Amino acid sequence: MFRNLFGVLLALGLGAAWAAPARAEKPLKVVATLSTFSDLVKTIGGDRVEASHVASPRFNPHFIEPRPSDVLKVKKADLFIHAGLDLELWRWPLVDAAGNPAVRPGGERELDLSRGVSLLGVPIGSVSRAEGDIHLYGNPHYWAGPQNGPILARSIAGKLSQIDPAHAADYQRRLDDFLKELEQARQRWARAAAGGRGMEVICYHDAWPYLEAFLGLKTELFLEPKPGIPPTPQQILRAEGRIREQGVRAILQAGYDPPAAAEALRRKTGVRVVTLCQNVGEKPECGDYLGMMDHNVREILSALEGRSPDE
Ligand SMILES: [Zn+2]
Repeated sequence: MFRNLFGVLLALGLGAAWAAPARAEKPLKVVATLSTFSDLVKTIGGDRVEASHVASPRFNPHFIEPRPSDVLKVKKADLFIHAGLDLELWRWPLVDAAGNPAVRPGGERELDLSRGVSLLGVPIGSVSRAEGDIHLYGNPHYWAGPQNGPILARSIAGKLSQIDPAHAADYQRRLDDFLKELEQARQRWARAAAGGRGMEVICYHDAWPYLEAFLGLKTELFLEPKPGIPPTPQQILRAEGRIREQGVRAILQAGYDPPAAAEALRRKTGVRVVTLCQNVGEKPECGDYLGMMDHNVREILSALEGRSPDE
């Protein structure tokens, strides 16, 4: 009797378990400092991740003031991704405020994307923030060069697989698809850039050395006398001299860089002012990583060739 009853209950229980819908798996909550990183996380993670970012792409990523809602997001994050170096001077105060030990430096849920990147502009000798410099450990704008895309994508896939090994094959498949698409685009960009190699451009902030390295361009002068220090009248005069003497055709800046200095130089010399996307979403045409690279490469090359980007 008891055995039968037990059997009935067991059957009912199992039946109920089979009838109930499988409990939906919760996606990983990934918080990135920058929209470019959260875009790559969405590409690699697909529906396994719920990715967001702290810094609006419409503002300078060096100088962001996180909101209380960002603190809450980082507190609940399964993974926190950042640029490392001294790109986000606001990053560790945000993590401290969130009180989530796993995302602190060296924590198992923290990913510093600068690891594995060959850095440009690593200072030789001593430098100090007292002089205003905000690139003390090497240039931190490495994601803006497409040659670093595979390194970032692999880092993200590796970390997602480490904290969610059950879906490692999914992450690997999406990574492979992305790398294939990026490689095709990279070849297209490299072919388009062939004619401009060796040309000089001026930049507002030292934010584009990786993209310039990819395109074979060079910069000898920035409108900021030091990274983070606004243009001075002397520096603008130096830039004017450089444009006239070296035949510099373009000034590169992000949409959030103050436009007055470049605009004054454009009026005086006819130099082209090229407004690039530093991060995904800064302009509608920079809607994802590949779209942003496409836009930036096209804008720069068309300015150097003296035509409009749509021609
Ligand atoms: Zn910078």
